[in-house]
Amino acid sequence: AADPPSPLLQHLNPEQLAAVTLPAGHALILAGAGSGKTRVLTTRIAWLLQTGQASPGGILAVTFTNKAAKEMVARLSAMLPINVRGMWIGTFHGLCNRLLRAHHKLVGLPSTFQILDTQDQLSAVKRLCKQHGVDEERFPPKQLTWFIAGCKEEGMRPQDVPVRDPETQKKVEVYQLYEQQCQREGVVDFAELMLRSYELLRDNDAVRAHYQRRFSHILVDEFQDTNRLQYAWLKQLAGDVEEGGRLAPRGSVIAVGDDDQSIYAFRGARVGNMQDFMREFGVQRTIKLEENYRSFSNILDCANALISHNQGRLGKNLRTQQGPGEPVRVQESPTDLAEAQWMVEEIKHLVREDVPRREIAVLYRSNAQSRVIESQLFNAGVPYRVYGGLRFFERAEIKHALAYLRLLENPHDDTSFLRVVNFPPRGIGARTLEQLQDAARGAGCSLHDAVSTMTGRAGANLSAFVALIDVLREGTQGQNLRGIIGQMLQASGLVEHYRNDKEGADRLENLDELVNAAESFVTQEGFGRDAVALPLDEQGAPLTQSPASQGLDPNLPLAAPGEMIDQDTGETLSPLAAFLTHAALEAGDNQAQAGQDAVQLMTVHASKGLEFDCVFIGGLEEGLFPHENAMSDAAGLEEERRLMYVAITRARKRLYISHSQTRLLHGQTRYNVRSRFFDELPEEALKWLTPRNAGFGLFAPDPIAAHRGNARAGRGFDMKSASFANPPVPPRKAAPGHGLRVGLTVFHTKFGEGKVLAIEGAGDDARAQIHFPRHGTKWLALGVAKLTVVE
Ligand code: ATP
Ligand code: MG
Repeated sequence: AADPPSPLLQHLNPEQLAAVTLPAGHALILAGAGSGKTRVLTTRIAWLLQTGQASPGGILAVTFTNKAAKEMVARLSAMLPINVRGMWIGTFHGLCNRLLRAHHKLVGLPSTFQILDTQDQLSAVKRLCKQHGVDEERFPPKQLTWFIAGCKEEGMRPQDVPVRDPETQKKVEVYQLYEQQCQREGVVDFAELMLRSYELLRDNDAVRAHYQRRFSHILVDEFQDTNRLQYAWLKQLAGDVEEGGRLAPRGSVIAVGDDDQSIYAFRGARVGNMQDFMREFGVQRTIKLEENYRSFSNILDCANALISHNQGRLGKNLRTQQGPGEPVRVQESPTDLAEAQWMVEEIKHLVREDVPRREIAVLYRSNAQSRVIESQLFNAGVPYRVYGGLRFFERAEIKHALAYLRLLENPHDDTSFLRVVNFPPRGIGARTLEQLQDAARGAGCSLHDAVSTMTGRAGANLSAFVALIDVLREGTQGQNLRGIIGQMLQASGLVEHYRNDKEGADRLENLDELVNAAESFVTQEGFGRDAVALPLDEQGAPLTQSPASQGLDPNLPLAAPGEMIDQDTGETLSPLAAFLTHAALEAGDNQAQAGQDAVQLMTVHASKGLEFDCVFIGGLEEGLFPHENAMSDAAGLEEERRLMYVAITRARKRLYISHSQTRLLHGQTRYNVRSRFFDELPEEALKWLTPRNAGFGLFAPDPIAAHRGNARAGRGFDMKSASFANPPVPPRKAAPGHGLRVGLTVFHTKFGEGKVLAIEGAGDDARAQIHFPRHGTKWLALGVAKLTVVE
């Protein structure tokens, strides 16, 4: 007689039950989005453990993202009273890292080996090219990094690469030099993690046998996105190849995947791995899951209709027993800023209706879209968290620029000093910097102050750097933020540096974005007031989670907006300092502490496997989504469509899709046509929040100018009246009243006499930059500071 069914297995449909309880052996589960693939994997692990068929140490599960791994572990520990920590559940990179840490000696790595990210990797290759006189015109370093990663993903070391022409010969040489450099410095890049641990298994019989015995059950999620090397790695772990090319059925590999969600072909993923797996592993069982448990049918209908435009699919059906649910909402905005503001308004509305913030996701096709959304969320005081990709203020070039700006504010900021003292290169070497740091330590002063003790050529170079910063500080007095940043970018040599850099175009665009960010910071946020205030919640109360993350004592009361002004002297942060504070806050983790309920921001790529009650997909415009790089060929377009399929199928209850007529991207306004994907969705599942209109862009007045007008007026963009028919709101008139003008000499009760260098803002927001010979240059809030005009 059969045992009574385990509670684990209730709530599974018959196909899922079959998959969870498959006897040991290799199997493929092929099924569409939201059909419970990941749930089946997780439940199978729990079932194997519960029935004693496996121990926690005997299971290896590969997920696609760290977030997915965390979720799997969390779900497991909810199902079973076992210690799931230490289980081998993670991403390919995470698991390989673990293998290499455990066997670093065998693979010739120091125990402390460091991992290079893509940017570090590129700079390492550049350094090499310089040293060895590689012609960067003919061999752009970025392409070299792709070449190297490509070789590694095919499992090839330099000596394995077939050399057919001098061109390849040269690339292979660089590959070899790069390898030597990494080895010397004890660093590995992402592809190296994978290849090195593959070789570890391949070349060490004892190690391989150990892990083959240990991992009797291997489970792979998102199998459609594995590349050749990952597949080979799995084969090493799974068991030894028998005569005739078949794997001995020693372990059990369960692969789950969805060909419609294959979105990493551009990075070497091979849907073909599914067929190879069937053949080489001698898979007997293939299970299809056809019921979608995630989404209401309006959402699912959209996904199904869209993906049906792709050719050559393996063919799966998806149905749901849930009702139609709400229609999919479609929004058209005049500008990307208006789109972001609309999203934030909707999000606030959802939160008021008790949707947890972590159940709201904003998805975008490319990372560059996130800044405007982030800043609107930040302004509204809505906690958010960005997954994957670098947040704007964390990008290297932005960090460099901010470091210069910080030195203008505070020459003793050693971190900023070290970051840019030799960037762009000024012939200041590591040894010089060590000496400087020693001197500063000895004298107990900042690096800036220790420079005067340095002699010789090194001393001259360092002094020149300090002089550069000092001159820049003098020269930017009285300037507005835009002027300061512009001068800094030139004087520091950053612009020139990136302009000469073949791969610098992106970074120059990001530096433009920094100017945009500063501009909108000043005009929209009224610098120095709310801008430096702590983030507020929907009711306008300061968020209680933030103080600790800002290094403040959480027991102390929070400053209210406006209290950053010294009430005694009227001294306030300079626009620059306020902006830097803003950048630091935005870059820090303060908006979303671990565990804090926060809106989730990520690229569509990063959203794979996840689900949310409410999902926003922005920027559905031709050239952006589908992306212009992928539009020229059918294969590229199909991959974009799969991406959109992934995006749509993340939503459980409510889906918003939107596009904007214009978008400020890379410092340029683009006039966009609505994405073709709209035409591939079933009309009856949609609800147009803004009237569906046909051609546009040709006769529209400049909406950017309109929104600038609004921004200057210090008002949010009013969504209800956001139509082209409305004339721009005239800028608020400056209310003079304080009687100051640039050049006047004034007297302050504490700082004495000083000269007015600049005035910004109006009315209550007005502030002046004043140079006091005895106290330096200060920004004073004119509503608070007691000033009398001397002349
Ligand atoms: P994706 O392709 O997006 O990765 P998936 O196939 O992995 O999706 P899951 O994330 O495992 O799908 O499941 C989707 C949702 O449906 C989850 O919330 C899961 O808990 C739920 N679900 C799956 N199977 C069932 C079931 N039999 N009964 C109730 N809910 C289920
Ligand atoms: Mg999944």
